Amino acid sequence: MSFVSHVECTVCGHRHEAKRTLGVCEQCGQMLAVRYDLDRVAASVTKDALRTRPPGMYRFRELTPLDAGEEPITLGEGGTPLLALPRLGAHFGLRRLWAKDEGQNPTGSFKARGLGMAITRAKTLGARGFVIPSAGNAGGAAAVYGARAGLPVVVIVPKATPAAAIAEAQIAGARVFTVDGSIGDAGRVVAKAAPAIGWFDLSTLKEPYRLEGKKTMGLELAEQLEWRMPDVLLYPTGGGTGLVGIPKGYEELRAMRWVSGSLPRFYAVQSDGCAPVVKAFHDGAETTTPWENSKTHAAGLRVPGPFAGRQMLRVLRDSKGGAIAVSDEAIVEAQRLVARLEGIWTSPEGAALVAALAQMKDRGEVSADQEVVTIFTGVGLKYDPPALPVPTHLTGTPDDAAATVQRLLSGGTRS
Ligand SMILES: *Cc1c(COP(=O)(O)O)cnc(C)c1O
Repeated sequence: MSFVSHVECTVCGHRHEAKRTLGVCEQCGQMLAVRYDLDRVAASVTKDALRTRPPGMYRFRELTPLDAGEEPITLGEGGTPLLALPRLGAHFGLRRLWAKDEGQNPTGSFKARGLGMAITRAKTLGARGFVIPSAGNAGGAAAVYGARAGLPVVVIVPKATPAAAIAEAQIAGARVFTVDGSIGDAGRVVAKAAPAIGWFDLSTLKEPYRLEGKKTMGLELAEQLEWRMPDVLLYPTGGGTGLVGIPKGYEELRAMRWVSGSLPRFYAVQSDGCAPVVKAFHDGAETTTPWENSKTHAAGLRVPGPFAGRQMLRVLRDSKGGAIAVSDEAIVEAQRLVARLEGIWTSPEGAALVAALAQMKDRGEVSADQEVVTIFTGVGLKYDPPALPVPTHLTGTPDDAAATVQRLLSGGTRS
């Protein structure tokens, strides 16, 4: 027995039956979302019962779209730690700063949650293969979960995609194609290729289940903060799955009376080389307009025309949050700062949040005792490293080498 009541359009409200594969709203073409019978969920599970369950995304089984007995295609995604950042917090004058370290997911990014859930459902509902446009991590995750499901995957990415994500998809057996331009250009090819070959289109938020995977970050955060919501939540924003998914999770828990009070103020953080959500937010627009000549090394943030623009803007405004653009230089600096102060080599997208925090602190948008959560969406290891010094090569006898080490250290050469 599943607790899903129906699948609903987030714009026109049109209802769809959840028994077959779904894409976008059949009435108006907008984004769909899964709705649950939350009274029945609340009557079926308690916070105490949750404590005895293993960690991971399916810990919150009743709030997932899985049918009774449906086996998830899983690599152990979810259950990532919420890490206190005391040294980084002190640097910014914040006493309660946290990072949800999504880089610890299989595939090294939180894409594992969304694609694990989407591929689980699509396979159950009869999909025979998958096609996905990606900036890198989504394609890698789709390939990996496709392999695990025993189904073929085609990944289409921009030419400049980080090499590790392409390799990850290829080694898992996916067929990878590159295109000029951005994920938007890849998406235009997928929209034609998927129906042509009869495989399922996994484009961001153009099917309703990826969002349910990303939503589990919100459920986990609620449990990890002892059923309290933070004051502020920062999200590195591309297609916006988590920005829409995390508040969905909080709202469902609130309807179940597992959390109370107002949602955190949500902040979308983007690179100033591709900031359609930031621009639309500050223009007071209802939805985003495509960003021209997008450019940033934070690959996951290079989404010039997100499908869920209006849904993201609604979250930012309803929660009295905001939207902040940071430069690629500030991202690199922040990435090094986080690694040096907290030992976390987060991806450029996660580091962008730290750069944004500096701006928020300067403008008084966040104060010392407010509880602030950042989502470190991926691991830095999957990207080309930032410019770092060439290590000193030691020669001669071990004594000579030791003397060199000692000399260089006493010179205070810390990089
Ligand atoms: C995809 C991705 C993002 C952006 O996530 P959206 O949900 O598309 O907004 C951020 N960081 C990393 C590491 C990603 O892979």
